[in-house]
Amino acid sequence: MNVMMLLEMASQGFGDRVAFTNGDDSLTYQELFDAAGAAAAEIKKSGCDYVAMLDVSSLAMPVALFASAWAGVPYVPINYRLTGHEIKGLLARVEPCMLITESDRAKDFSGHDEVSVCTRDDFLATARNGDPLQEPWSMEQEDTGVLLFTSGTTGAPKAAVLRQKHLVSYILGSVEFMSAGEDDAALGCVPPYHIAGISAVISSVYSGRRMVQLPNFDAADWIALVNEEKITNAFVVPTMLARIVEAVADDPGMEMPSLKALAYGGGKMPLSVIERAMQLFPNADFTNAYGLTETSSTIAVLGPQDHRDAAASKDEAVRRRLVSVGRPLPGVEVEIRDEEGKPLPAGSRGEIYVRGEQVSGEYVGRGSLLDSAGWFPTRDAGSIDEEGFLFLEGRADDVIVRGGENMSPGEIEDLLLEHDAVADVAVVGVADEQWGEAVAAAIVLKDGHTGDIPALQAWVRDRMRSSRVPQLIEFWNELPYNETGKLLRREVKARLGS
Ligand code: ATP
Repeated sequence: MNVMMLLEMASQGFGDRVAFTNGDDSLTYQELFDAAGAAAAEIKKSGCDYVAMLDVSSLAMPVALFASAWAGVPYVPINYRLTGHEIKGLLARVEPCMLITESDRAKDFSGHDEVSVCTRDDFLATARNGDPLQEPWSMEQEDTGVLLFTSGTTGAPKAAVLRQKHLVSYILGSVEFMSAGEDDAALGCVPPYHIAGISAVISSVYSGRRMVQLPNFDAADWIALVNEEKITNAFVVPTMLARIVEAVADDPGMEMPSLKALAYGGGKMPLSVIERAMQLFPNADFTNAYGLTETSSTIAVLGPQDHRDAAASKDEAVRRRLVSVGRPLPGVEVEIRDEEGKPLPAGSRGEIYVRGEQVSGEYVGRGSLLDSAGWFPTRDAGSIDEEGFLFLEGRADDVIVRGGENMSPGEIEDLLLEHDAVADVAVVGVADEQWGEAVAAAIVLKDGHTGDIPALQAWVRDRMRSSRVPQLIEFWNELPYNETGKLLRREVKARLGS
């Protein structure tokens, strides 16, 4: 398998259809296929072992992604928000490489022997005008498709190896949750160096959709582009949806009638935001997608029907599913295990393990974390209810240990989010002389509410064991999230613990 087979199918099926648009420029499926072939010839000529891309979303991105697959060379997207020092550290792990970057940054890397720098515009121009590689792309399952650095939320970014078979298995397994027609258009606004950005590009090609790229998110620009381009499908991270909801609520004229499907994921979605979004966009199908870099994107989804059923239900257990990440995709197995790795029954909390064709679990220099039966430890904590819905409860490493008792910050956060005054919350453990760790919470209040610490503590005390009651509560204007919607818990901990 090779992602190139998806592009070749699309170019044969609807070559004249626009595949990607960025500002005034675009590429049809046939043009994308031809450009990938010509860029593959350049990559082969360069003798580089990797193709690294350091750029915002641009037309060069899908060309480089598919050209690398054609040339049989791993594609390595790099986070352009990192400092020059951090980027050089990552590049040192993938030498020798061809680095494609926008012209301002190219000069930072000239003189680096093992990096052959190419500006984005030159790369695209050569790809558009060159002759294609004569060698066909390979169906070798073990070829590395993408080498992807994880977000670095919990520590230094790890270089995850995603082979062609993982990328294609994910796309084939997940497409039933997508709907593509000739007039369908997706809005691509997630970082191109993240698994969500990569998988969005590949699945857009597989579905034969047009993808409109928006390199930088701004709620007003996003809404305007949805309306100008008649966008039907989009993926957002929770912080983006929160801003879109605010912007539409402030200006009800900003309706988005073309939007049929809105998927979200990457981090925890606050209940108040998804409920508001469902009210504001009643015609859109909502999907919560849960996945990791190491699993080639989504492994579980809360689909459109689940959203509608949960929102309409009077049963609290069904309604609560709106904060779940749904059920595993067909072909993906999920288990909850205890600290010794033993599977736990429904309802128990533990670490989430996953198994499936799309799960890689392999890292550069660290080998594979899959056990002998193919299971991958996600380091996410969670539980599965009787109906198979998966609830995330933070990272396994975020567990707070107070006086020898383990507690998950997620369950305390979920309870606080049910309080009328709470818009967002992060719960962490901070050093405590008596108990080892104390429970601390940073809370963002809803507009018009004032912070009442005893009332919030009583809210928790009335519903949970007293050990869960936050001893320290601070009110903040906002919580720190990264650009893929992940709460930076280490920052919260440092600030609350200081
Ligand atoms: P690192 O491993 O370097 O700390 P990371 O795990 O944050 O980085 P990613 O692979 O980008 O890197 O993120 C995967 C994590 O994002 C998941 O393990 C989970 O904690 C979180 N996540 C993904 N999708 C969702 C979702 N729909 N709801 C809640 N959390 C999610």
